Amino acid sequence: PQRPYIVGNWKMHGTRAMLSEARAIDRAAQRHMKVEVALAPPYTLIHPVHREAEQIGVGAQDCHHEDGGAHTGDISAAMVADAGAKFVILGHSERRQNHAESDEIVRAKAEAALSAGLRIILCCGESEETRAAGDAVAFVKEQLKASLPADHAVLTNGSANASERVTIAYEPIWAIGTGNTATVEDIAEMHGEIRALLIELFGEEEGPEIRILYGGSVKPENASQILSTAEVGGALVGGASLTADSLMGIALAA
Ligand code: 13P
Repeated sequence: PQRPYIVGNWKMHGTRAMLSEARAIDRAAQRHMKVEVALAPPYTLIHPVHREAEQIGVGAQDCHHEDGGAHTGDISAAMVADAGAKFVILGHSERRQNHAESDEIVRAKAEAALSAGLRIILCCGESEETRAAGDAVAFVKEQLKASLPADHAVLTNGSANASERVTIAYEPIWAIGTGNTATVEDIAEMHGEIRALLIELFGEEEGPEIRILYGGSVKPENASQILSTAEVGGALVGGASLTADSLMGIALAA
């Protein structure tokens, strides 16, 4: 089994003044090698963080689905890889909501990222209304099925095991930035359902190895309970990833 994976998503936070925090995260990660720590800063900090980081993986929070062209303001997978990114977060609910990203677009982005040699962290998660209606599991499974590349050769980029290229992040929208985490029962149920889907899609060998992260108001205080829940392979952390103390507090709980 792979190490627990703790990924900080800085969202639209961070100028060069934050590089000292990234350095502190990197130094702390060197002392806690049992956990894999990674950071997705804004595009503008990918290369500076990459240059200084010795231990943590650096990633992007999104990329465009095309290789290049007349797309003012957009950034391709090859560009983030060139800046030093090793992975990209795709299909985050904030991208799906604020930029109207459909499952089809997320899938195209995943294909582009994997062929550029990046690992992907593919996000899924239901709204409060969907959960209230009792449709959370069906919604998340459909969303994942439609957002993941269907072609196994694309997923593995020809050689690697799918679990080395693909990570799933379950982030219920109502838990993001709200201080409300899902209950461990809800997390266990959803992660179990996602695991079953991954086995269905990737088979008995690769399906069990793909890490499923939980995201949504993860903090040092609730991390050990969440991270010890069945089928939780790590956490995707927003607000609590902005300081080395809180992100590494979560990593220490893993
Ligand atoms: P918060 O940890 O701030 O709730 O954000 C979670 C998230 O969206 C990480 O991608």
